[in-house]
Formats: sequence, structure tokens, C-alpha cells
Amino acid sequence: MRKTALLLTPILLILFALLLGACTVPGSDPGATEGKKTGAVDPGETPTDAPEITPAPTELPWKVDEKGRRLAGSDSGLTRDGTPKKYFTISFDDGITQDRRIIEIYNKYNFRGTFFINTGLFGANWTWVGQTLGDPSLSHLRWTKAEISTGIYDGQDVASHTLNHPSLKNYTKTQVMNEIDKDIDNIYEITGICPVGMAWPGGDTEYTKTTMEIARDNTSAKFARATTSTNRFNLPKSWLKWQPTCGITDSSLLKIAESFLKKEAESDMLFYVWGHGYELDFYNKWDTLDQLIKMMTEADDVICVTNSEFYWLFADEIPPIK
Ligand SMILES: [Zn+2]
Repeated sequence: MRKTALLLTPILLILFALLLGACTVPGSDPGATEGKKTGAVDPGETPTDAPEITPAPTELPWKVDEKGRRLAGSDSGLTRDGTPKKYFTISFDDGITQDRRIIEIYNKYNFRGTFFINTGLFGANWTWVGQTLGDPSLSHLRWTKAEISTGIYDGQDVASHTLNHPSLKNYTKTQVMNEIDKDIDNIYEITGICPVGMAWPGGDTEYTKTTMEIARDNTSAKFARATTSTNRFNLPKSWLKWQPTCGITDSSLLKIAESFLKKEAESDMLFYVWGHGYELDFYNKWDTLDQLIKMMTEADDVICVTNSEFYWLFADEIPPIK
């Protein structure tokens, strides 16, 4: 390797000199641009007189809330250009230990997803989930605060699943506000990024129109994912009852994914998959998840977004409640 480099250096120097003579345009900096393209070191520059070609770190275009907190998903740089697009997003609930393996799969494809967590239940071991499903060995174990603080979800979209995962349908305004906003505050304290959304705990039977109105008028949650599959690729009808396309355990998930890839976007489309990490264990869906993320990230015409990134793209067009 070193020998090759030694042999190549004089050749590169000669080539560079020729290029410099042939290509110099007044005001241009061929050393910088040509060097970048080929990966060669610019021999004309020494570290001391090197011009500044690496741009200084620039501030990401975060939106902030009234407390100055950076808002999740607002720094994506994604914008819409007026032509219909196909979007893909996925979320997992509860903040449990299987999420680490999910993120390992995501990292293979440079993909990011959304995780809804309960900061009032750190370390909770819900053995009843496995018992209910007839497999007591099935794990439903939430991360502790110390574990989460090591950065398990770094780079991912972390959002609220309420503080304690209660049924909210009979909760008072104060209780609903506390469950949602305290969770959002806690997530901000841990991650430094303020969640803009949540997933309703317990599914669509555990909250009411009144709960949604409380969330809309009194909390920081701008969207709330629901649980009834639409089996469609439509945009959400309302932010606070954001119904997904299907679940990760749906037996036809990859067929649905294929049909999404085949479709032409005549209007904006969203393919939204949701689930729980423990379901990947119980239903043996790890390969399916891997395949799904591979398909979506490799498709040229699919824009992969987190839930929060998607929210900002369509924030003004979809009502909070319908
Ligand atoms: Zn849950």
C-alpha cells in the first residue's frame, strides 16, 4: 500500500501540474476542486497557507418552541417541491429492549425511525405480555433511565407514549396534560430534543374525542398515532388520530410494501408501519423488518422519514382533529 503510494505520488504531481496549466481559470481554485474529486492531496498547499475549504459547522435549521427547545424532526432539511411524493415511516412503541436490535437493522440501511416511550415506566418488566400471549419467556422490558441516557436512541426520533401508559378515556384534563407533557419534558431532558408527537397508549379504545381536544388545546403534542390499520397509503386525516397503514405483524406486510413500490404517486402517499419490538420476537418478524427497511431505503422514489419529519412536511395541511 505504502509502496504504491510512493510510486503514484510523482505521477500525481505531474498530472496535477498539467491539469493546473490546462484548467486554471481566473478566480478558480483547481487544487481544491480537482483534489476533492480524485481524492488526491493538493501538493501546492501546505497546512500553514491552506485556504479554508472546509465549511465551518453551520447551525441546523431547527424550529424551537416557546421555551427555546429544539423540536424533533424540524431539522431534516426536507421540503416539498409541489410534485406528489411517496413517503415511508415506521414506529415502535413502549421503549423496550428489543429496540436496540431494531436500530441495528436501521443502521445497516442508514435509516431512522420513531420510538414512542414512557418515561414514568423506566425499567418496568411487563411479564404479563408474554403470559397473555402464552409464552412466559417473551420479554417486554423497558430500558432504565440510565440505559436510555447512554444514547440508545441517538439519531432516532423519540416521541411520547405518555408518562405511565394509562387508559386516558376517563382522565381529567389535568391528568391528560400531565401524562403527555411531563413525558415530553422528560424526553427533552434526556435527549436534548423536544418531541412533537405521541402515540396513544392502549390503542384506539382508550381515548375519546375529549382526550384529543385536551391534547390539542393544552399539550405540546402536535400528532398522536392511533392503532387501527387503514391498509391504504393515504395521508393522515387528522394529526391527533394518525392511523397507520398496517402493523409489523401483518401477514401481508411485504406484499403491501411491494404494492407501495409499484404505485405511481398521483398525489402524496404515505406508507406507515407500526408495532412493538416484542412482536418481532414473538412472531419471528426480524427478517421481515430487515427486508422492509431494505426495500424502502433502496427504492429511488420513496422518501424515508421519521414521524416527526413527516409532521413538519404536512403540518399546515392536515387538521389536528377532524
Ligand atoms: Zn404501548
